[in-house]
Amino acid sequence: MDYHVHSLGHAAFRPIPAEIAPFLECARQRGIAEIGLADHDRYAAAFDWRAVRETAATYPEVTVRFGVEVDYRSGGKPAIRALLGTLPRDFATGSVHNIGEWNFDHPDHRDGFDRYDPDELYRIYFGEVAACAASGLFQIIGHLDLIKIWGHRPRGDVVALAGVALRAIAGAGAAVELSTAGLRRPVAETYPSLPLLQEAYRMNIPLTLSSDAHRPEEVGQEIDLAARIARQAGYRTVTGFSHCRSRQVEL
Ligand SMILES: [Zn+2]
Ligand SMILES: [Zn+2]
Repeated sequence: MDYHVHSLGHAAFRPIPAEIAPFLECARQRGIAEIGLADHDRYAAAFDWRAVRETAATYPEVTVRFGVEVDYRSGGKPAIRALLGTLPRDFATGSVHNIGEWNFDHPDHRDGFDRYDPDELYRIYFGEVAACAASGLFQIIGHLDLIKIWGHRPRGDVVALAGVALRAIAGAGAAVELSTAGLRRPVAETYPSLPLLQEAYRMNIPLTLSSDAHRPEEVGQEIDLAARIARQAGYRTVTGFSHCRSRQVEL
């Protein structure tokens, strides 16, 4: 499965069958049986699940689930709740991409890392992830350790720094994703890293697999590798969602 696909990209694609189909075609070719569309919440006005359904009907090999990736910012909970109330969905993924107004995962804003002590930054970031999970609004928490995207590492133990986020995720009953997107970034490893994934397994946190594809050819990219890493961490099942209810699928 691949539970993090942006069929609109960053508004590079339109919600029409001709532009949705290449995403499903790539899933079919890579043997991905189930994909979760999770376009960014800022494009919610363009979501057209009727067009997706129409397209999906021509790909019977691929089950398509409807989701959304919400850019979580502390304080935004009422607005997020209101948005989710308008979206019929199988799941919602909560992701932290910002520290205050700083969009740290944007390549143009990498210099923002110079303003922080790395350990302090990781502490702030995981605190935001904890708030995201504790909001109780999300079935999945996206790219758990995205803060490492450009290769900035803490001096301290990342598992200890992430503890606050992992406890909030476990407490909320949310899943984490094992995302291959980090392999395409300077950090060149999955989100999360193996030690964090092992800790998530130890804490009985369910897992989904994802590519965070923003282009058709990225759908299902390196999902086989993700499945192997998940097994290495101890997981024997991954989690799918239908109408915000989870089910376990053998790895
Ligand atoms: Zn994201
Ligand atoms: Zn994404």
